[in-house]
Amino acid sequence: MFLILGDIWFWDLRTLSIYYKHLALTCLALLMIAPITISPAGDQRGFERQISYRIDLFLDFNSMLLKANQSVLFNLPMGVDDVCFKVYPNAFQPDGWIEITDVKVEGVPFKSFRLSEKDDTTLVVPLPGDISYDKRIKVDLSYIVKVPKEEDRFGYFDGILALGNWFPILAVLEEEEGVWVSHPYVNMGESFYSECADFMVTIRVEGEGDFVIAATGSLVEQKKAKNITVQTWRARNVRDFALTVSPDYEVYETTWENITIYSYYIPEHEESGVLAAKFASRCLQVFSEVFGRYPYAELRVAEVNSWFGGMEYPGIVFISSKLYSNGNESFMRDLLQRVIAHEVAHQWWYGVVGNDQYEDPWLDESLAEYSSMLYYRFVYGDKEFRRAFEEYVANGYYVYLEEGIDLPIAMTMGDFPSIESYNAIVYSKGAMVFRLLNSIIGDEAFFKGLSSYYKRKKFGIAVPEDLIEAFEGASGKELDWFFNRWFFESGVPSYEVMNATSQKVGKGYVVRVVLRQNVSEGSPFSLPVTLEFVCANGLNFSYSRWVNETLSTLEFQLPCSPVKIIVDPEDVIPGRDFGWGEVEKIKGENRSEIPPSVVLLFLLVMVTIALLAITIYSRRSGINLPDRRKHCQGIVRLRIKSSMLT
Ligand SMILES: [Zn+2]
Repeated sequence: MFLILGDIWFWDLRTLSIYYKHLALTCLALLMIAPITISPAGDQRGFERQISYRIDLFLDFNSMLLKANQSVLFNLPMGVDDVCFKVYPNAFQPDGWIEITDVKVEGVPFKSFRLSEKDDTTLVVPLPGDISYDKRIKVDLSYIVKVPKEEDRFGYFDGILALGNWFPILAVLEEEEGVWVSHPYVNMGESFYSECADFMVTIRVEGEGDFVIAATGSLVEQKKAKNITVQTWRARNVRDFALTVSPDYEVYETTWENITIYSYYIPEHEESGVLAAKFASRCLQVFSEVFGRYPYAELRVAEVNSWFGGMEYPGIVFISSKLYSNGNESFMRDLLQRVIAHEVAHQWWYGVVGNDQYEDPWLDESLAEYSSMLYYRFVYGDKEFRRAFEEYVANGYYVYLEEGIDLPIAMTMGDFPSIESYNAIVYSKGAMVFRLLNSIIGDEAFFKGLSSYYKRKKFGIAVPEDLIEAFEGASGKELDWFFNRWFFESGVPSYEVMNATSQKVGKGYVVRVVLRQNVSEGSPFSLPVTLEFVCANGLNFSYSRWVNETLSTLEFQLPCSPVKIIVDPEDVIPGRDFGWGEVEKIKGENRSEIPPSVVLLFLLVMVTIALLAITIYSRRSGINLPDRRKHCQGIVRLRIKSSMLT
C-alpha cells in the first residue's frame, strides 16, 4: 500500500520535551506496572525457552568501570551439561574487557567456569551433575566491565557512553546437537545471536551532572541521591538490552498512535535530534502497516559517537553523531533519514524476528536495507524511491564490481574477505535482489510474504527456509530457483541487444530483438526482462519477456518504429545492460546516441560525396586523387570522433 505523507520539513514541530515531562510519564508507568511474567521465547523449534534477566549495574562515569550483579533464569532440555554466555567486551582488549568475579549455579558458588572462543568472548559454565531440568535454572554472575575510549557501539567518547553488547548474554542452544552456538565478535558487522527474554535492569550512575539514560524497554522507576542517578528499566520479549548515557543529552519525544518515540541528542544538534524522532516515527508507521505492528510501547533513537552510521538494538537504535547537523545541508538530513530507516527496520528484522547474524547476515541486513528503501517509496513515492535506491544501494554495488569480485549474498560473516565486499554484497546486492523478487512476484505477494514471516517468527528465530516458505506461500509459486540462483550463488546477468530490426506490417511494426545474456559467473538466469522502446515521436512502450537462454530472439508489435531500445530501464535486475541506440546507463561509459549502422551509413555517404567532389574538382583542375591509405585514415579519424558523441 502507499502512504504518501506531507513534506516533513513543514511538520509542526513540538516544543522540546523537558525532563519533568519524562518524570511524569515515569510515574504513570509505575502506576501501570504489572508483575513480571515470563515470556516464551519459543520459535516452534520444539522447545519453548523461557529466559529472564535481573541486572544491577553500577556505573562509575569517571573511571568508565561497570560493576554488575546479574541473575539469569532459563530452562534447558535434559542432558545439557554446561551453559554458555557471550561476553563481547573481551573483544575490545586491552582497552575494554570483562572480568567474571563470581559465578553461582542455583545459589551455590561455582569456580570451574572458563572463557573460550578465539577472542575470549564465550563464558562456559559447567552445570553440576545433580541439576534439575524440571524447573528453570538460575545462574548468578558478578562481573566488572571496562569500557574502552572508542567511538563504537561499546565505548565512551566525548561525553556519550554507548553500552551495546556489554553484559554476559545467554548464547543460543542448538537443541538437535545439544551444543551452544558461539561466534567470534565481528567488528565490521554483527555476529550476535540470542533469544528473546525479559529484562529488569537497575542502573546506578555515579558522577557529576544530571545523567540522561536511554535504554531498551521502559523506564519504570528513578531517583537521584547526591551524585548518584538510579533508574530501573524493564523490557519484555527482547533479545538484547542496550543503553546510552550522557550528562549532555537533550530529549525530544513524539508519538505515533500509542507508541512513544524518544530522541536523545546533544544540545548543538537540536534540529537533527528533533528530526530523528520524526523520521523514526514515520518508519514505525510505514513498517507497522506494511510488515506488522511494532510490538513495544516505546522506541528510542540515541546519538552516539561512532565510526559507523547506525546500530540496531531492541527498542533503541544508536545513530552516529556525524549524521547530526544543524545547517541546511539537505544531503546530511537525508543521510540521517536513510540510516534511521535502516536501523528502525531492524526492529522487525533482527529484533522481533531474530536470526543468527553471523551465520545468515543477509537475513536481517539485506531485508533491513530494502525496507529502508521501501520507506522512501511509501513516504515519498516511486520517483524518490528510485533516486534513493540508485544513490544509496545500487551505486555501491556497481562501484564495488569495478574492482571487486561478485560473491553469493548468503554467506556467513566469516566468509566475507573485507568490509567493502560485505557492504556491497549483503547490503547493496541483497537489497537489489529483494527488489527484483518484489518486482517478479508483485507487491501483494511480496508484502503478504513479509507480514506472514513476521507473524510466524515473531519473538523467535528464523532461518532462510522460513523466509523462502513465506514468499512461496504468499505467491503460490515455488521460489527455490530464485533464492538458489540469486542468494546462494554468485554472478549477475548483463543483457545486450545484439541486433534489432523493425518491419512495417499493416498499421504497426513488428520489431525483432536479438538479446544476449552474458553471465559474470554460473549458469544463465531465468528472469522476466523489460525492454523499453522509444519511438522518434517521443512515445515509448515497455514489455517484459521471460528470458532463459544465452541468446534469445524476441518479437514485439509496436505502433511505431523504435529508434532506441533500453534494456531493464529501471535497473530492477542487478547487472549492467546494453540497449540499442541508447545512452548507456552507467556513468562514464556512455555510448553513442546514434546506432552504429546509422553512423556507418552517414560516413559512407559523406565519403562518397567527398570523393565525387574531389574527382570532379581534380578533373577540372588536374589535381591527383588522394591515395587509399590517406582515405582510410580519414575514415578512422571520423570514427573516433563519432565514438566521442555522448
Ligand atoms: Zn543493518
